[in-house]
Amino acid sequence: MTTEFPLVINGKWRAGSRKESEPVLNPATGEILGHVCHASSIDLDEALSAATQGMREWQAVSPWSRGTILKRAAELLRENVESSARTMTLEQGKPLAEAKLEVARSADFLEWAGEQARRVSGRTFPGRDLGHRIEIETHPVGVVAAFTPWNFPMALAAKKFAGALGAGCSIICKPSEETPGSVLALARALLDAGVPPAAIAIVFGRPEDVSNYLIPAPQVAKITFTGSIPVGKLLAAAAGRAMKPVTMELGGHAPTIVCGDVDPEKTADFLAKAKFTNAGQICLSPTRFFVEERVRERFTARLAQHASAWRVGDGLDPKTQMGPLANERRLHAISHLVEDAKAKGAEVAAGGKRLGDRGYFYAPTVLVKVPPNAEILRSEPFGPVVPILGFEDEDAMLSQANGLEFGLSAYVFSNDAVRLRRIKDQLQFGTVGLNDVVTHPPEAPLGGWKESGYGTEGGIEILEPYQKTKFVSSR
Ligand code: NAD
Repeated sequence: MTTEFPLVINGKWRAGSRKESEPVLNPATGEILGHVCHASSIDLDEALSAATQGMREWQAVSPWSRGTILKRAAELLRENVESSARTMTLEQGKPLAEAKLEVARSADFLEWAGEQARRVSGRTFPGRDLGHRIEIETHPVGVVAAFTPWNFPMALAAKKFAGALGAGCSIICKPSEETPGSVLALARALLDAGVPPAAIAIVFGRPEDVSNYLIPAPQVAKITFTGSIPVGKLLAAAAGRAMKPVTMELGGHAPTIVCGDVDPEKTADFLAKAKFTNAGQICLSPTRFFVEERVRERFTARLAQHASAWRVGDGLDPKTQMGPLANERRLHAISHLVEDAKAKGAEVAAGGKRLGDRGYFYAPTVLVKVPPNAEILRSEPFGPVVPILGFEDEDAMLSQANGLEFGLSAYVFSNDAVRLRRIKDQLQFGTVGLNDVVTHPPEAPLGGWKESGYGTEGGIEILEPYQKTKFVSSR
């Protein structure tokens, strides 16, 4: 039996007025799970006027009570983890255990923002002359238009709902049409917890039609997007034309530097798990492996051993360590990157091929002798592929590591504290892991440098992207 994935506008779960929809596929089988409804401009207009009204209603709730509602939504997500994690695995492919962690992380973001919502404050101080007073007030920025992807379909949307609602804004979200159920589960928790129905909307459709409509709409005050750099540039340009602030969480291509003083086997054990999580479809995923020559062979052998033994299968099978790629586009993209590297002289130490002909499974892959002109060293792979590059000269390696337009995350593994810090200081990235690979907890602000984005999400400043200030001068 298939399901409809509706729009959610003003508390109504309904089809689009044009009755247009598209199939949602299970990436493990290629089977149709249901159909996601598309919004027309009539539906988007309704979402915009509801959000304007929702903003007023949400403003009428005190910051303390807004915090209570967000924390209640977090509890509801946790209570319903089994069903929403299953939905996520079915539509996105990740192993059920990873889906449960994502639901938990989404709840953490709502809870964290709920706590921060109670701490919104301004400041008052005396002006230069006696009797002159300066007040700085904090206000919600206005209606937010959010665009979120399919790789962490609940958590990446939850960050935006958490920040926007915590700040007192209403929000219209266009999630990925490929993973609608996860965001609908989030919307259900928010509404059941007591967010006014008009304050949140979920709309699906043809992505460019929806963004072209929402970004310039006068009711919308703020744009936030998570996705690829090319789409981020399009949306940022559209927002710029309307002079609207944006937050952009875009792609990365993380250098992962393994120094010669580490235990190469233990480091490979750690990195295999980090790399193959979510089938490598993580913007923070380690992607360009620079391994110092004296440990390169041992590190490569162990990583290739892991890649060959990694259990790839349906995410609902508890034995599965890695699910399928999330969609057919990724399968083609990963096959293309591996074939391109091979054609230019790279060798396959493990994997290097699609698995089976049903679903979008690709083998965990390790590539060696990857030539500098291989596309995988420039394009974000977003899949379970590890290109290994040896290095001896630290400065040359660092200029290669910093040499792309990406600046999201980078990792260094060493037992030499001085070397770790020296390398860290030279890395031009917004997030750095030292003997660690980063996952994003709500307590840390995360954002990219260079073309990987503008602004941050999370941290004690989680509400700031959704706030504006008013300077009041009085005598
Ligand atoms: P994409 O950028 O085309 O799509 C990402 C999201 O943006 C999807 O939800 C999509 O529906 C939406 N989108 C696309 N065009 C849009 C438009 N004109 N207006 C509004 N929304 C739009 O990426 P993709 O093909 O789904 O994935 C390919 C690449 O995207 C990956 O290789 C990776 O680099 C990047 N990506 C990054 C992240 C991240 O967390 N930073 C997440 C997903 C994808």
